[in-house]
Amino acid sequence: MPGLRRLKSIMCVATLPRTILEQLLQTARDQPEKEVCGLISARDGTVMRCYPVPNIHARPQRAFEMAPHRLIDAFRDMRERREQLWGIYHSHPGGPTTPSARDLDECGYPEALQLIITLHDDQPVHAWRFHKGKATPVSLEVVGSHGL
Ligand SMILES: [Zn+2]
Repeated sequence: MPGLRRLKSIMCVATLPRTILEQLLQTARDQPEKEVCGLISARDGTVMRCYPVPNIHARPQRAFEMAPHRLIDAFRDMRERREQLWGIYHSHPGGPTTPSARDLDECGYPEALQLIITLHDDQPVHAWRFHKGKATPVSLEVVGSHGL
């Protein structure tokens, strides 16, 4: 489909293993009453694992704040495995997958890809880059087979 190819060539593409995608969706499904959040690591640009971090926000159904100690643990683990921060994910239990004004304001890691999960969309995970208060969509390419 020529239109799709053209779209892909102007959008950045990030590759996400299906195993990680399924893990993210499961985490979000397990806690549908609140936003789940965490980190995703990579080595040399290849996604390796995700680190779920408890959401300690006072209103976790509307926003997220990652538990600082668990965040430190995750970064330490990444360092020991020689992996880098690749992405930050959180869920919007009621949708949409577009970033909220708060997401853009409070983004502490602009170099990371931002993944937003919802359980109410044909495409349950959308990726974004945040730069200077603006969100640019990033196309996600899911690789690997089901059930691995
Ligand atoms: Zn959000």
